[in-house]
Amino acid sequence: MQRLLIATANPGKLAEFRTLLAPLGIEALGLDAFGLAAAEETGASFVENALIKARHASAATGLPALADDSGLCVDALDGAPGLLSARYAGPGADAQANLRRLLEQLRGVAQDARGAHFVCVLVLLRHAADPDPRIATGRWYGRILEAPRGQGGFGYDPVFLDPASGRSAAELSAAEKHARSHRGQALRSLLAELAGA
Ligand code: IMP
Repeated sequence: MQRLLIATANPGKLAEFRTLLAPLGIEALGLDAFGLAAAEETGASFVENALIKARHASAATGLPALADDSGLCVDALDGAPGLLSARYAGPGADAQANLRRLLEQLRGVAQDARGAHFVCVLVLLRHAADPDPRIATGRWYGRILEAPRGQGGFGYDPVFLDPASGRSAAELSAAEKHARSHRGQALRSLLAELAGA
């Protein structure tokens, strides 16, 4: 079985990748398996940060590495929280605080001006100096609600309205979310490319 390092310290993300890659004969290993810390995300865009994370992991282990970077971009806020999605309310802020800050920033903004999208960029490097990284991007377009709805998911899911279903991302089952989400789209596109390689 081929081994692939997933450049994440997040056990939830690792489990998701493990499930999806196993049928392709690929064993997914996390940073923890190598005692590695996550790279500092110094890039100016999602794709730059995903590249930084993948290169750091591959250079430290000599293995192929897959990294992802994701976040929420709100039209009325010029793309914020964007790269700062995980710490919008300040360093170490939790999801509740980030979500509250987002709703405050959008107070008084009309429904039809509350457009937003989630984005996920996946980068696969076959080795640290790979000049041709495989890059897959997924985007999920919707709208920011005025108050949280639903109990599922994580992060900004309770305030993100999926227009196709009329439900918030936190009101979708895990399978429904995966079928629509930025992460699901990016993974399917990368896996299709890997399967054809
Ligand atoms: P990362 O990919 O772990 O860096 O995620 C960055 C941040 O973006 C997360 O901490 C969340 O705040 C937000 N985010 C990314 N994907 C999702 C999602 O599927 N639902 C809700 N929030 C998300």
